[in-house]
Amino acid sequence: MSSDQQEPVKTICPYCGVGCGIKVQPGEEPGDVRFMPWGEAPVNEGRICIKGGAATEVVDHEDRLTEPRIKEDGEFREATWEEAYDYIVDELERIREAYGPDAMGFFGSSKVMNEENYLLQKLARRYGTNNVDNCTRMCHASTVWALRTSLGAGAMTNSMRDLREEADVFWIQGANPGEQHPIANSQYFRQAVLEGATVIQVDPHANKTTRSFGIDDTERHQHLQLNPGTDIPLLNIVLKTILEHHEEHPEDGWIDEEFVEERTEGFEDLKETLEDFDKDAAAEECGVPLEAIERAAEQYATADNAAIFTGMGMSQHACGVDNVQNEINLALITGNLGRPGTGVNPLRGQNNVQGTCDVGAMPNVLPGYQLVDDDEARESVEDVWGFEIPDEPGLTNVEISYEAGDSIKGLYVMGENPVMSEPDANAVAERLADLEFTVVQDIFHTETADYADVILPATTWAERGGTVTNTDRRVQRMRGVGKVHENTRHDREILTEIGTRLFDEGFDFDDPEAIFEELRQVCPSYHGMTYDLLGEEGLHWPCYEPGDEGDPFLYEDVFETESGLGHIEGVEHTPPAETPDDEYPLILTTARLEEHYNTGTMSTRSPTLNKQTPENFVDVHPADAERYGIEDGEYVRLHSRRGEITLEARVTDDTKEGVVWTTPHFAAASANKLTNHVLDERAKIPEYKAAAAEIDVE
Ligand code: SF4
Repeated sequence: MSSDQQEPVKTICPYCGVGCGIKVQPGEEPGDVRFMPWGEAPVNEGRICIKGGAATEVVDHEDRLTEPRIKEDGEFREATWEEAYDYIVDELERIREAYGPDAMGFFGSSKVMNEENYLLQKLARRYGTNNVDNCTRMCHASTVWALRTSLGAGAMTNSMRDLREEADVFWIQGANPGEQHPIANSQYFRQAVLEGATVIQVDPHANKTTRSFGIDDTERHQHLQLNPGTDIPLLNIVLKTILEHHEEHPEDGWIDEEFVEERTEGFEDLKETLEDFDKDAAAEECGVPLEAIERAAEQYATADNAAIFTGMGMSQHACGVDNVQNEINLALITGNLGRPGTGVNPLRGQNNVQGTCDVGAMPNVLPGYQLVDDDEARESVEDVWGFEIPDEPGLTNVEISYEAGDSIKGLYVMGENPVMSEPDANAVAERLADLEFTVVQDIFHTETADYADVILPATTWAERGGTVTNTDRRVQRMRGVGKVHENTRHDREILTEIGTRLFDEGFDFDDPEAIFEELRQVCPSYHGMTYDLLGEEGLHWPCYEPGDEGDPFLYEDVFETESGLGHIEGVEHTPPAETPDDEYPLILTTARLEEHYNTGTMSTRSPTLNKQTPENFVDVHPADAERYGIEDGEYVRLHSRRGEITLEARVTDDTKEGVVWTTPHFAAASANKLTNHVLDERAKIPEYKAAAAEIDVE
């Protein structure tokens, strides 16, 4: 390193929610930013997956937005920041005056840091609306709802470290950590398996998780390859098997009677729900042999410590809240909560999904999950902010998109790409075209930016500092090497400027630490954290006072519900809103790849990642391929009631007969043109995981 070369900075990978630490080294040329391993990083201890290793490839990519753009006569032209800010402030004021503040929607992003999402939701509320949301709505809104309601906090109950050390059974349902959380899988879960832990994977698709544990090769592990959308009947078989066994052999302790008696409510309701439940019929509906499910029930119920991992295969259904509630039921009746190696643990997809919700970028809650319609909570935040907060929950992001052009007249999008990420994407694009005013703030010209009136060039993850909160509630600091392109702005700088121009006070922050200092005043679970105390290890929330070490696992003594009890509630099967019929005889389901990320804005521009998988594909079962006359590698037209895409068919028994499986990453064959926008009525998460579809051979 030459004497004037900058030292590498320690920061966090910008991709998945594992929160791996990496170093970023600025080179001698402007824009030359290189990845370096961080050997002592607290989560990953120097290891890295393909995405983390390639993360710096997008920092100085030739497609970077480098100046503000304003649309005139349907074309974008370069603009100065002054022009862009003036235009935005004028339009925000015009819309509020003409239609009221609820005519605007604000989208935060889990790709963006805590401080920036905090500022965006504060800006929305100062503007006068709770119409602020983030992409968590699309991934784990139902999980957060069920966990908050039944246990107390919408987050992983345990930490990756205690799970590695103490769990004997890993029940992984609707998640694929082998692909989507590679370092959690290799560094934590696989280590536990090597030391004797058992894996039960419940997923319609065989994947890298299946292969990484050798599930097919051993008597110990199981893959229950169920039909999409049958998670409730499968778990009801498990629950009923445990109840039946306990009735005959209470001495085996499959149900933890003491735990149920002292720490839960609703057990009788569960028993009533399952009284007439027919296990044989349910197993047939799931497409899994009853004996395999009963064996899995025994494996879970007889473990000293059993941990549930849950993912978007569970949450992204119109019955997403019920799906996760049934996992909670299983953990509660067996006493698998409140100690290391247990719990119900959502694996979060983006590097700041947890934090974006923690800091209040949601329509119904303020920072720290304080309800906007709880007068006491709202007033405590108002005391710090110095303005009145609207007291009714706002619209979620999917609702905002579907109101676009009707009650919603304007949209502010920070780091999101709804034209590709939301279901029924063609309809979303049509509605965004009807908006009067749209701002997109991003690092690249996204598919959504086509519909913008102003595009603001933001800096990347490697250029700025702040904090992010990983999947196991660890808040960690990110550090930046400074701007690669002079005329870009950090997200926080843009929001600070717009806030200050719109309002006299409340948005004047010099740096991310100043924002964090205000955030911790209004977010009780972050109150004990400061940048100094976070240091290099970070801290798990809740951390109520400076000096608290944070809680790696939750609910040791009491649940954080109103009654202090864990809530059990029997749930009944709700089939997907669309089931196969003569016109659309296949079930379409979607999931992510290890080498790509969400709508591909970053990963498809990364040469290393794109080389691995440069375009979309669809997995088709050999029996279906034969029926349709599809050859492996042939291009097919995949379509649903909402749209169509053309992509390569891969003939494989990774998927079940009658089920086609594809990915959401590629704009040229965007799977969300096909997915269904029907919502879970409580959490408002769309049913991405099951839609009726058909294939035509081109
Ligand atoms: Fe980044 Fe996740 Fe890979 Fe870790 S596991 S390097 S956080 S993408």
